[in-house]
Amino acid sequence: MVTILDTVKNAPKARHPEKANRPDNPIQRKPEWIRVKAPGSPVYKETQEIVKENGLFTVCEEAGCPNIGECWSKKHATMMIMGDTCTRACAFCNVKTGMPAPLDPNEPENVALAVEKLGLHHVVITSVDRDDLADGGAEHFAQVIRAIRARSPSTTIEVLTPDFLRKEGALEVVVAAKPDVFNHNLETVPSNYLTVRPGARYFHSIRLLQRVKELDPTIFTKSGIMVGLGEERHEVLQLMDDLRSADVDFLTIGQYLQPTSKHHAIIRFVPPDEFKSYETVAYTKGFLMVSSSPLTRSSHHAGEDFAQLRANREKKLAEARG
Ligand code: SF4
Repeated sequence: MVTILDTVKNAPKARHPEKANRPDNPIQRKPEWIRVKAPGSPVYKETQEIVKENGLFTVCEEAGCPNIGECWSKKHATMMIMGDTCTRACAFCNVKTGMPAPLDPNEPENVALAVEKLGLHHVVITSVDRDDLADGGAEHFAQVIRAIRARSPSTTIEVLTPDFLRKEGALEVVVAAKPDVFNHNLETVPSNYLTVRPGARYFHSIRLLQRVKELDPTIFTKSGIMVGLGEERHEVLQLMDDLRSADVDFLTIGQYLQPTSKHHAIIRFVPPDEFKSYETVAYTKGFLMVSSSPLTRSSHHAGEDFAQLRANREKKLAEARG
């Protein structure tokens, strides 16, 4: 096992000149409970090759995800569609900011090919924010879903979308393409939005998740947050209630890790027993599935979690039938 610093050092990263004017927040030493697998196994390299030869971006690389060694060694990569440049500049995120390139019309087919080659049972598709597009990229999301379905009909599909802020009808287009899981992350508690997620609105995100369920109750909904950004426990519990009031099925909670000294500082490393406590409380509030640990990320173990989520729903339905 190696430290997270070794992994981040070895993983390919995006360059971020746009963050140069942010204040410096020195990177803190990670606690002993944050340990990850080093990248570089033969399967890791195979995954890297498939991603490269299909000209794809992954959030695993662009965000410098600490789990890349583990996930890619199991051929689990999260595709990031619509380019590598985001129209927003959230204080926690390592993806570069600027004016993105036009959409690649071949991308849906290339993603579908990669999914087929990787032999994925479950795939997570995310994207940069594309506030420059009239529909926020909703139709492109739908095209990617349809292309994967055509090549790999048994693969289950999870989308992790932006908020499509002020894009009338965008959400409906993605829901109509019928992903199995619709994930949209709240990222943090509302009191942090101005500093952490300035381009977004907390209740817009809650409403978006609620709307997905209203449009298609068969789609699982999912959301996640990072902790260690200065939030209070009672705020996290309120956020859980807000998500449950929107009928959200699955909650993920993970430790925020600061990508560079130009990003938001880590206010606190949350110890593993607090993650466990959040998990226990979240289940009592009615979530079908909860993943809460220091290294939890939206797409970490997404395939295994999806299988469990489905089983939990069946169990709940059976109980309701008596
Ligand atoms: S947790 Fe998600 S983003 Fe991170 S490496 Fe795994 S699949 Fe990629």
